[in-house]
Amino acid sequence: MPVRHVPVVIVGAGPAGLTVANILRAASVDCVVLEAESREFIERRPRAGFLEEWAVRALERRGLADRIVERASTHSEFEFRFEGGRHPFRYTELTGHHHYVYPQPLLVTDLVREYADVRGGDIRFGVRDVELHGIDGERPSVSYSDPETGERRLLRCEFVAGCDGARGVTRTAMPAARTAVARHDHGVGWLALLAEAPPSSDCVILGVHPRGFAGHMPRSPEVTRYYLQCPPGDDPGNWPDERVWPELHTRLAVDGAPPLTEGPLIEKRVLDMHDYVTEPMAYGRLYLAGESAHLVAPIAAKGMNLALHDALLLADALVAYHGKGDDSGLRGYSAACLRRVWHYQEFSQWLSELYHGPSSGNPFRAGTASARLRRVLGSPAAATSFAEMFLGKDTDH
Ligand SMILES: Cc1cc2nc3c(=O)[nH]c(=O)nc-3n(C[C@H](O)[C@H](O)[C@H](O)COP(=O)(O)OP(=O)(O)OC[C@H]3O[C@@H](n4cnc5c(N)ncnc54)[C@H](O)[C@@H]3O)c2cc1C
Repeated sequence: MPVRHVPVVIVGAGPAGLTVANILRAASVDCVVLEAESREFIERRPRAGFLEEWAVRALERRGLADRIVERASTHSEFEFRFEGGRHPFRYTELTGHHHYVYPQPLLVTDLVREYADVRGGDIRFGVRDVELHGIDGERPSVSYSDPETGERRLLRCEFVAGCDGARGVTRTAMPAARTAVARHDHGVGWLALLAEAPPSSDCVILGVHPRGFAGHMPRSPEVTRYYLQCPPGDDPGNWPDERVWPELHTRLAVDGAPPLTEGPLIEKRVLDMHDYVTEPMAYGRLYLAGESAHLVAPIAAKGMNLALHDALLLADALVAYHGKGDDSGLRGYSAACLRRVWHYQEFSQWLSELYHGPSSGNPFRAGTASARLRRVLGSPAAATSFAEMFLGKDTDH
């Protein structure tokens, strides 16, 4: 089997893996990225859209945010709609910070281009059957099948960065007896929709309705993301366009608002709202980053931001180790990531109850959810605290 030696192997070319790769490359720490899909596929996969300002600034300091700063739109408010009323929530007034709207495929495209085309980094697309070996020893290795020849290849390394997302393989290399996985199920699904239609408002609209949550999220002048709460495990086939649009109109309807702009629905997926956290996020020479370690349901738009936070910490720790022999970042990596992970999980759970309580069929949950919403809208102290959690902060760890 052909063998190559490289200090770091990164499995997965999502936001986490590509951020680690770029930072290592800039610091002259050699690495190889292994990605199961093609470049075209990962550059088009629609998913997240909101970047927190601290994450944009952190990428900017590493020369990775030029295009975000140039092209992303910034948001400073959203609107709650409930009980037939419109309730703007101006979070920038409360915190001084913005949300950046930058679709994940654009971020991935920028990061691949910077790593592979500008910095000359090694990335292998379409690899099959990635396996990890000897992660509890000094010289781990990663094997995979070459997509063209089918031959097995071996990369010997010092560290493996497991950045292969929720369905990856690296997490399974951690011994069950040395890791704990905490899980939470919100008991609802969201029908995630992408409409080829201009946004119907400049800002995000969050509809809290007795029929279920509905969301409107501008992505670009031509494309809008919508969400509709549905039963978990529902079949997208149950949601023809003729059912989706009336339901969106009903749940987002308020007096004085212009009607939603309809368009072809180019994506329809049901996401079951659940979360998990793997602790610790490292074992031996394997370090997990992003959704390979933790999933936070997209209720509060936190997942990509958490993936970037892990990636920044992991890359800095690997650079410090290779540059100065300083292993303190690696030793503290898991604990430092998990502080923000749990902070965001708690906020997501809190927000989930606010969104889903009113349609739960349980009058007690509906009553407390309404009280929660009124407190955020009525108390400046509660509003500021909510705004800080909604936006995330540099110091959330
Ligand atoms: C509909 C939707 C909307 C969302 N909205 C938001 C939002 O607004 N804001 C937000 O912050 N987050 C959001 N998220 C979450 C966000 O998309 C994820 O948190 C983010 O993609 C995680 O990045 P990652 O790099 O950890 O993993 P991924 O992006 O999943 O990347 C993992 C990579 O590893 C590859 N891979 C998998 N298995 C293997 C293998 N065996 N070998 C090699 N490669 C492999 C995959 O192909 C993939 O390219 C949303 C998610 C969804 C589904």
